Amino acid sequence: MTDLLTISDLSVFYGASAQAVDSVSFSVPTGSVVALLGANGAGKTSIMKAIAGLIPAEGRQVFEGEDVSGLSARERVKRGIVYVPEGREIVGDMTVRENLTLGGYHLSGRERKSRAEMVLDLFPEIANKADRHAWRLSGGEQQMLAIGRGLMAKPRLLLLDEPSLGLAPMLVRRVFDRLGSFRSESDLAIVLVEQNLAMTMRICDELHFLRGGRIVGHRTAAELSDSAARQEAIDAYLGAA
Ligand code: ATP
Repeated sequence: MTDLLTISDLSVFYGASAQAVDSVSFSVPTGSVVALLGANGAGKTSIMKAIAGLIPAEGRQVFEGEDVSGLSARERVKRGIVYVPEGREIVGDMTVRENLTLGGYHLSGRERKSRAEMVLDLFPEIANKADRHAWRLSGGEQQMLAIGRGLMAKPRLLLLDEPSLGLAPMLVRRVFDRLGSFRSESDLAIVLVEQNLAMTMRICDELHFLRGGRIVGHRTAAELSDSAARQEAIDAYLGAA
């Protein structure tokens, strides 16, 4: 499998002395789901924002064979690098459909419309409420809308930041199952940030464990298929720093 994205020696600084990410390197094969796991403050969101072009970063980022390190967030969206932020950030006083339209701002009118239908097919829960204000949706539905808005942009790489945050496990499962079936049809790759290993295992192919801005461990999903191996990884990488 070829690599869609390769990150080499990525470092992120906030000000002169605060280093949030320290020489992180990993690859995302085409069509795969790569998870970044770590406690609060481990640097996960900073890595995602750097890949999305939303914050400056050192190091090299190669997407579809081209160096994209210097590109703006807008240029990256055009190439298919799309970030779905933690905390959802949908527009509450716009309707579900209007929120989706925002996600496809760079598409032609016709393409935007057919894309919105595709997203609403994927998430029937919000299709029923397409003309309602987004603030009226439940937490789970808002998460579906946020992911749906990301899918509107025709991503090749979806950067999903803690989609399970604040959601009931059953809803998280539903969101992940939908995403799983969508990506197997569309060759979409996903970088998933999570704190919840069990949920992450439902969808991911490989996992990187982060601590203090560094990658401290790597496992394939197959290596974590039995619960003893999962517990060992949790103890080794996600326990107290
Ligand atoms: P969380 O799950 O809490 O978002 P995270 O693993 O995503 O954690 P980051 O949000 O990337 O971690 O934060 C990594 C480090 O960078 C932390 O020490 C955090 O305090 C710091 N940091 C994050 N954003 C800023 C900022 N805008 N200014 C200064 N420091 C920041």
